[in-house]
Amino acid sequence: MTVEMPAQRRLVQTEIPGPKSQALHAERQQHITDGFGITLPVFVEQAGGGIIVDVDGNQLIDLASGIAVTSIGASVPEVTDAIAEQAAKFTHTCFMVTEYEGFVEVCKRLNEMAPGDFAKKSALFTTGAEAIENAVKIARSYTGRPAVVVLDHAYHGRTNMTMAMTAKNVPYKHGFGPFAPEIYRAPTAYPYRYDGTPEQCAEAALAKLKEIVLTQLGADNVAAIIAEPLQGEGGFIVPAPGFLKGVQDFAREHGIVFVADEIQAGFGRTGKMFCSEWEDLEPDLITTAKALAGGMPLSAVTGRAEIMDAAAPGGLGGTYAGNPVACAAAIASMDYIEANDLIGRAGKIEAQVMPRLEALVGADSIVGEARGRGAMLAIEFVKPGTKEPNPEAAKAVSVACHAEGVLTLTCGTHGNVMRLLPPLVIEDELLDDALTVIERAVRDAS
Ligand SMILES: *Cc1c(COP(=O)(O)O)cnc(C)c1O
Repeated sequence: MTVEMPAQRRLVQTEIPGPKSQALHAERQQHITDGFGITLPVFVEQAGGGIIVDVDGNQLIDLASGIAVTSIGASVPEVTDAIAEQAAKFTHTCFMVTEYEGFVEVCKRLNEMAPGDFAKKSALFTTGAEAIENAVKIARSYTGRPAVVVLDHAYHGRTNMTMAMTAKNVPYKHGFGPFAPEIYRAPTAYPYRYDGTPEQCAEAALAKLKEIVLTQLGADNVAAIIAEPLQGEGGFIVPAPGFLKGVQDFAREHGIVFVADEIQAGFGRTGKMFCSEWEDLEPDLITTAKALAGGMPLSAVTGRAEIMDAAAPGGLGGTYAGNPVACAAAIASMDYIEANDLIGRAGKIEAQVMPRLEALVGADSIVGEARGRGAMLAIEFVKPGTKEPNPEAAKAVSVACHAEGVLTLTCGTHGNVMRLLPPLVIEDELLDDALTVIERAVRDAS
């Protein structure tokens, strides 16, 4: 079944949120916990390509993709047909009870696609946090060691262990402790906030990480080092070149499992299937989720066969792990990415967007830096003439964009980064229009 989509253009017919959204939001507040936040209280009727149609008939330009999930669009017929067909056959068996081919096919393709010239195996789960939890379980059972090293500005999820692994307190951790033990934090290589060259930044962060592992923890107590190859919630930080390669080499030298969390940056988003490829990394384990299954909940751990096999049978799993409908969506989504060269498209988006973001940067500008890869791009707001974080400016620009019908997200440890995550299928004109709105909002907030 296909539902006709309106034309791919921005359309603001009411204030945003409009009256219908406002009424629905009031109802939501009566029935839904206040513990869920909201970026823009607009109720969605339909979404596809680069637009979101709301219940008041407004059409927003989507620069969020549901947080890097709907990279191929939110209603691609190839995917929705695959979902409908699988659902009509069966919705669930539990893969730990009886098997189905979709699960095997997704794992086989992940094993083939993931970087690294070695035998690989995969496991499927449902959410990103669950993939991270399982990567830690696998690394611990393989090494027989307890400690896990994560980085400054890291985001790994909202479950107990992944909260401990996440760097930022409010809103992710505050009031939710005590947290899982044996999680240790090392600096990341954040070039914009390092006084020196990117090379020095990488060296300094690596030296500190080594010191923490060797002197504070003892390398033979460390099961895994986990890093996002492009840090997401923490502020779209592209690590200084060489840092992650250094971490990987160091991990290997000491029998520590090196895990790349590609949950946000993976699956074509940065202009490579896996963001690790930008630095020729060959992580022992890779976690994926978000864009993996065209909007359906599915996550994976993929990596070296001997590590993946370390957990005893029955040790891994989950009732919904690798749901068959989600697997069907993942297969259709992988086919769609390939058939439409959406990985190449991510590079074209960078070429279109980056020059316009860079033009906003200046010594006396509220934009301190433009950065990112592919269709994972951001601007960091600062007080003009300084590097002091300016979350008020990020907020003001976002609010202005929302009012004009452009859905943007913020991120960053200080909340001072505006991130752009357009669907990879967004049309050039639509993206141009969104950029014009952003430029105007930055000028007005200056
Ligand atoms: C979103 C995200 C997670 C958590 O995924 P959920 O599906 O929300 O549990 C973990 N790591 C990174 C890098 C993410 O962006």
